[in-house]
Amino acid sequence: MTHLIAPAELEDTITHLFVNAGAPADRARQVAANLVLANLSGHDSHGVGMAPRYVDAILEGRLDTRADVAVRVDNGMLLGLDGQSGFGQVVGVQAMDLAFERVVAHGACIFSLASAHHLGRIGHFAEMAVARGWIALHFVSVSSRPNVAPFGGSDGRFGTNPCCIGIPLGLDDQVREPFVLDFATSRVAQGKMRVAHNEGRSVEPGTLIDENGQPTNNPGVVVVPQSGGRMGALRTFGEYKGFGMAVACELLGGALSGGGTWHRQADGRRAVLNSMLCIVIDPARLGSLASFGEESLAFIDWLRHSPPAPGSEGVVLPGEPERAAREQRSREGITIDDATWQEIVDAGKKVGATP
Ligand code: NAD
Repeated sequence: MTHLIAPAELEDTITHLFVNAGAPADRARQVAANLVLANLSGHDSHGVGMAPRYVDAILEGRLDTRADVAVRVDNGMLLGLDGQSGFGQVVGVQAMDLAFERVVAHGACIFSLASAHHLGRIGHFAEMAVARGWIALHFVSVSSRPNVAPFGGSDGRFGTNPCCIGIPLGLDDQVREPFVLDFATSRVAQGKMRVAHNEGRSVEPGTLIDENGQPTNNPGVVVVPQSGGRMGALRTFGEYKGFGMAVACELLGGALSGGGTWHRQADGRRAVLNSMLCIVIDPARLGSLASFGEESLAFIDWLRHSPPAPGSEGVVLPGEPERAAREQRSREGITIDDATWQEIVDAGKKVGATP
């Protein structure tokens, strides 16, 4: 069974859940809107299905719903920020806003953000930058439990460490929708395994290993404890190349920010902490804006003229699937599977909210 819900109604439900869990109303609404936008964008893994986990993190005292971003180091275009375990959707936006002031002043900003609670869909932050005509690069580490195996290893050693690059395309009257590449360095996001497990589906071969290091198509191995209480692991995308990118995200997002890296066994706690290195660039300040605008459009057009491969509808640019999903789901509503809905209802019971 599934539930088809209008986005505004879903946002109200999740806002109510967070308010009952003790979050200030404006923040509860901001986080709920961000999660619903992830569902609208086609990323149910980072949508309202995360809300029960956020409620647990609040109840275990590891998500501070009132925390703001703190500036630890200010070196002009370099900022060292601390998310102080605040809602990632709140402190992440505060961090981007601080960066934007520095981009106006200096043409670019590099900031590290340590220890935010889950930042959600990283593309959200890149979209904030590209809406201003700026480029944004994000390298993110995930501190929750080690659910991704290193290439050549046989158990989980780090998180799904996402990477995101947003690039505005075109200039003046020739502006096109931006390029927004936003992905987990695991072959798929952990949340997609939760959704597949809840829906009783198997996943693509090559995605997972079980608790004994053997290949499996059962998403349950990374969702519920297996034999001996042990868990399986996701594989990285692109074999050793994706593994290298995942390690870079841990080193840049986790080690460089001061948020820390993962080097211990899982402890069963529910909070998900993210640390991020972000670089924002105003292309106008590099002196090549006109050619950047022209060359990017020429290249995109060149790509689009590639004849569709057999069985394909042609070239799709990163960012397009999310925009298409938003258009469709805004019209038709958001489908929530029954297990996810039940988890939201159960989270509501913990804090006295009835969806
Ligand atoms: P995914 O595998 O769906 O890949 C998404 C990217 O690929 C997007 O940029 C999309 O536009 C592009 N894309 C999809 N189909 C395409 C096609 N046919 N041609 C060209 N480009 C295409 O996403 P994912 O790896 O499962 O990640 C989902 C989300 O999870 C992301 O928003 C990511 O930021 C988020 N995430 C967050 C965390 C966290 O801890 N905060 C951790 C992992 C992932």
